Amino acid sequence: MKTKILVANRGEIAIRLIRAIQELKYEAVAVYESPDKDSRHIRLANEAIWLGPGPRCDYLDISKIIKAAKKSGAIAIHPGYGFLAENPDFAKACEDEGIIFIGPSSKVISDLGNKVIARSIMAEAGIPMVPGTKDLAVGDEGVETAIAFAAEFKYPVMLKATCGGGGRGIRLIESDEQMREEIPVARAEAKAAFNDDRVYLEKVVIEPKHVEVQIMADSHGNTVHLGTRDCSIQRRNQKLIEIAPSMIGDKELLDTICDTAVKAAKAANYFNAGTVEFLIDKNFNYYFMEINTRVQVEHTVTEMITGIDIVRTQIKLAMGKQLSFEQKDIQMRGHAIEMRINAEDPKADFMPEGGKTVTVYRSPGGYGVRLDGFVYQGYTIPQVYDSLLVKMTVHGYSWNETVDRLRRCLQNFVISGPKTTIPFFLNIAKDPDFNSGDFDTSYLSKHPELFNYEENANEASKLSNLIAEIHHRGHNPYAA
Ligand code: ADP
Ligand code: ADP
Ligand code: MG
Repeated sequence: MKTKILVANRGEIAIRLIRAIQELKYEAVAVYESPDKDSRHIRLANEAIWLGPGPRCDYLDISKIIKAAKKSGAIAIHPGYGFLAENPDFAKACEDEGIIFIGPSSKVISDLGNKVIARSIMAEAGIPMVPGTKDLAVGDEGVETAIAFAAEFKYPVMLKATCGGGGRGIRLIESDEQMREEIPVARAEAKAAFNDDRVYLEKVVIEPKHVEVQIMADSHGNTVHLGTRDCSIQRRNQKLIEIAPSMIGDKELLDTICDTAVKAAKAANYFNAGTVEFLIDKNFNYYFMEINTRVQVEHTVTEMITGIDIVRTQIKLAMGKQLSFEQKDIQMRGHAIEMRINAEDPKADFMPEGGKTVTVYRSPGGYGVRLDGFVYQGYTIPQVYDSLLVKMTVHGYSWNETVDRLRRCLQNFVISGPKTTIPFFLNIAKDPDFNSGDFDTSYLSKHPELFNYEENANEASKLSNLIAEIHHRGHNPYAA
């Protein structure tokens, strides 16, 4: 019987993982909830196990996934990102059952998933970070500590969920009054989203750049970095566009940040792939923010510039292999940009467009273009999952060439049915500031004009589909 690996995820990441698993000559076992019954990841896998009707409960049910792994005879589980990827109980359940968890240990996930614990580990290792509090005490005592912190470091301050993620549970606080009002609200929200109501404060870095470092560590004591990514272009503190390498500062600064990331990973006893996130201020001071203990959405840009298949490497490391390259072997070549093509309406504050059917799907191709997606023409996007449809990653020799390629691909990309981020991204690809590499986390709020574009016709009927098709062919005479 072939050796099997179970993929505990859905959407584009499930497909990304299945491809790597099959390339390594393992068999891939998919799992799914009912709303995903037509998903491509099921067809691509060697076998698929139905978890239950869902939505969003069976994918999160540790015992059901372990049961599926045992039923199929899988020796390992890849959690992808989101869902159970950063749940230490899931990693622990795999450890207890003798199933290989493709990621770090449950102890590391548990320590680093808690931003306050992570900060204390990093502080001890001498990693620079912004000042912050410990978990705020419940009730008045916590509010008083928070107000005293703000008095010392001046407003605004950042109120963060200790166990938060995905850009959720972060709020800017500008006054004592707002602090009193928002702490209980933030607690309730954190409880609902992360099943943990702890919150703490950080000093705010004004208009920072978000720069992160990809780390790979084997179980033989070797840790390397795969360079930087700039993920400053965000909406609601969540990334939208990612770039490798970061173009901030000079080589010396970026080398120092990468070395700091390796030191941070070692301080946390890190194993497998992970990302160390930093904020960088206008004076090029850098501050540790958090470590994400999983493969990132944006790992593709690092793969494009280093040529290292991160998911393949993750699997090999989890199987006990040594890293096959040393730091000196890793070469960075050119630039890569990833855009998250989401079924969202940027003009309506990026409201999700789930529930709609993709009536026309025409993707770009050619030199330096990579697509990681799961939708196809005729596919109805389930309303109950996130809005990421396809990640488009372009690679080029120079920054200019890469942006030119990006613009060309966005002009060629047609998705009809749901509104998407494509026309909005096209404005970004044409924006002079983006073209000159001038952006930080305040980029979208400083460029309201990016939201002015002509809407792709939103097909409600067969007739408008046809018009879209004719329109598309008019622009692309070679389209099939
Ligand atoms: P990254 O910072 O790696 O780009 P994102 O913020 O885009 O990651 O989140 C990646 C995926 O993981 C998204 O689907 C997001 O909703 C999910 N996610 C992030 N944090 C959590 C969490 N703490 N619990 C559950 N899902 C999460
Ligand atoms: P998550 O776990 O949700 O990814 P992070 O702690 O990584 O949360 O922060 C996400 C984003 O929020 C950052 O990329 C940045 O834009 C913003 N942010 C977080 N902390 C700060 C801070 N102290 N000062 C300024 N911006 C911050
Ligand atoms: Mg983060």
